[in-house]
Amino acid sequence: MHIVLISTPIGYLGSGKGGGVEITLNSLVTGLVAKGHTLDVVAPKNSKLLEASKKVKLHFVEGKEQKSWQHQDYYSLVSISDNSLLPRMIEKAISIGKKADIILNLSYDWLPIWMTLNINIPIAHIISMGSESFVINNLISNVYSKYPNNFAFHSKIQASDYSFIENPIIIGNGFKLRNYIFQNSKNGPLGWVGRVAPEKGLEDAAYVANALGEKLNVWGIVQDESYALKIEKMFSPGVLEWKGFLETDKLQKELGTCRALLNTPKWNEAYGNVVVEALACGVPVVAYKRGGPGEIIEHGKTGYLTKPDDKESLLSYVKVINKIDRKSCREWVENNASSNIFASKVESWLNTVIKENQSQNLL
Ligand code: UDP
Repeated sequence: MHIVLISTPIGYLGSGKGGGVEITLNSLVTGLVAKGHTLDVVAPKNSKLLEASKKVKLHFVEGKEQKSWQHQDYYSLVSISDNSLLPRMIEKAISIGKKADIILNLSYDWLPIWMTLNINIPIAHIISMGSESFVINNLISNVYSKYPNNFAFHSKIQASDYSFIENPIIIGNGFKLRNYIFQNSKNGPLGWVGRVAPEKGLEDAAYVANALGEKLNVWGIVQDESYALKIEKMFSPGVLEWKGFLETDKLQKELGTCRALLNTPKWNEAYGNVVVEALACGVPVVAYKRGGPGEIIEHGKTGYLTKPDDKESLLSYVKVINKIDRKSCREWVENNASSNIFASKVESWLNTVIKENQSQNLL
């Protein structure tokens, strides 16, 4: 297949602003190229791919970044500024897409989804979040009624946010395993990884570290400065150890030294890349059973799941984290979430979309 990938218009690949979408895209590039497919990736200027290949071409687009939907009111209108990246990325993708088999959109936005009904090239969408916008939710519903196969989700619980979706296509996510080294560090510190923003619930993880008289290592981009400041003020100096945003290679090295990762989502987390990345390094995860982590973590085997927002339960499971065999964590990722497994699921899904589109065009 010749596939055109549309990246997120929230930030360039490598900036961290795009959150999990950045790893998803990179993992797809690795997995789909290994299967012999040819890719064109349309992404904001300055984007970097983790792996170069003759089969992948990166196309830069300049313009103003979109505001992420989870940081807007649910009923906000679609807003596209004069020099916005989004329409320029779509234009670019369509012009390349005319010669391709399919466009694969990874941006959670209105315009690319609307295009599905209005051009003759099949467009498939990996929906990266739960329902975060009224207008996008309703648009997906409209497009879904004509093209039910064009949407894929990372987890069942994420898909359940879209009540009209019957039998959702679930693709999980994938990780290039050789980028993550197993470490057997049972006595390491506690870790937390994510965009520092209210939906990620950093305060609950900090509560646990504080109660244990320990520091919490925090990796990730500070997306909401006032939120970060608020959390900092809630605890004594030194509880939060800000480590900043690191590239995967450095992140996994440091993350692997942790004895546990705390994952405390306050929203319906679509998947939870950081959970799987920790497992890949052998780090068990203690998480709220909310969103994707609830489907990924095997309670008692690769970590522990607690009732959402129950900080005391989180604390009690961290105390017994050494009961988990770190090798089981790595094994789970090898058996369920490699970039190869992920690319196979996406490949067979895209084939279905292409076939369906061809038969629709014959009608
Ligand atoms: N991340 C990173 N460096 C950091 C912290 C985070 O590359 O220092 C990446 C992390 O590897 C993960 C992504 O940011 O792939 C966050 O994705 P996740 O699915 O956990 O949450 P999202 O941001 O998509 O809501």
